[in-house]
Amino acid sequence: MCLAGCTSPATPAVIPADPAITAVAPASTATPLAPATPVAMATPAPPPTETLPPLATPTVTPGITLTLTVVYDNVAVDARLRADWGFGCVVQGPEQTLLFDTGRNGEILLENMRALGLNSQAVSAIVLSHAHNDHTGGLARFLAENPRVTVYMLASFPTGIKATVREAGATLVEVEESMPLSPWAYSTGNLGGLVPEQALVLDTPRGSVVVSGCAHPGIAAAVRQAQTLVNREVALVLGGLHLLEADTVRITAVIAELQALGVQSVAPSHCTGAKAMSAFAEAFGAAYRSSGAGQRFVIVSEGEP
Ligand SMILES: [Zn+2]
Ligand SMILES: [Zn+2]
Repeated sequence: MCLAGCTSPATPAVIPADPAITAVAPASTATPLAPATPVAMATPAPPPTETLPPLATPTVTPGITLTLTVVYDNVAVDARLRADWGFGCVVQGPEQTLLFDTGRNGEILLENMRALGLNSQAVSAIVLSHAHNDHTGGLARFLAENPRVTVYMLASFPTGIKATVREAGATLVEVEESMPLSPWAYSTGNLGGLVPEQALVLDTPRGSVVVSGCAHPGIAAAVRQAQTLVNREVALVLGGLHLLEADTVRITAVIAELQALGVQSVAPSHCTGAKAMSAFAEAFGAAYRSSGAGQRFVIVSEGEP
């Protein structure tokens, strides 16, 4: 198994924010943050923020707001951030802040989090999608700054990564089957395939959200598993979809499969590839969200702003 990383271009591109898609809110009305996730840095300019529209028949959990912020990606939609090949996403929710994947460079991860006003000390759990270095390389540096976390990784991960967690004094949980990580977050468990991988599933007021590292086992497998864990529509699929080298036939098939599964919107990035991203944009229309480091998705209960 290759642990060096997902197929990586020589020079990651940095793209500016797309003003048509990423509305920048003034600081006073910026992203509502969960009460248990204090922000450390002094009022940086707000990153691009997107609020998911209500679904046709939302199942509302009053009072719950979830905020997802992409903190590591090979493109950046916020000029203050460093783009680098890899993926990482911070999820702030009631009583817990999760970090899903760490990118490959912990310095970039922590710098980007600081620039976004995200406090590394508020993170209480790290979920690692798969063992590729562009998702796990930042782990050791992060643990040096905050070892008071539980790290969820597949049981098949290399012993070296497990040792990194134990030596830092963090708590290691080896995942095989799907499991709850908090009242509103689940691991899909091992989705199988040549590169074992888990995805993160969030139970939100607007439907479930599936956060994917690379989707080596196929993003449809993650979505199907999410539907067994959370009995809501799949509101958003976010992250790497590993279609960088896929041909048009395969890309079309993946899109059709997600649409058949009822996926409402997609925010692909990282290893999805430009060709696949334009195909997704065409297929999903207004429900396509551009993503990259600095993109923020806020999911609020009905009746909240
Ligand atoms: Zn990757
Ligand atoms: Zn990978």
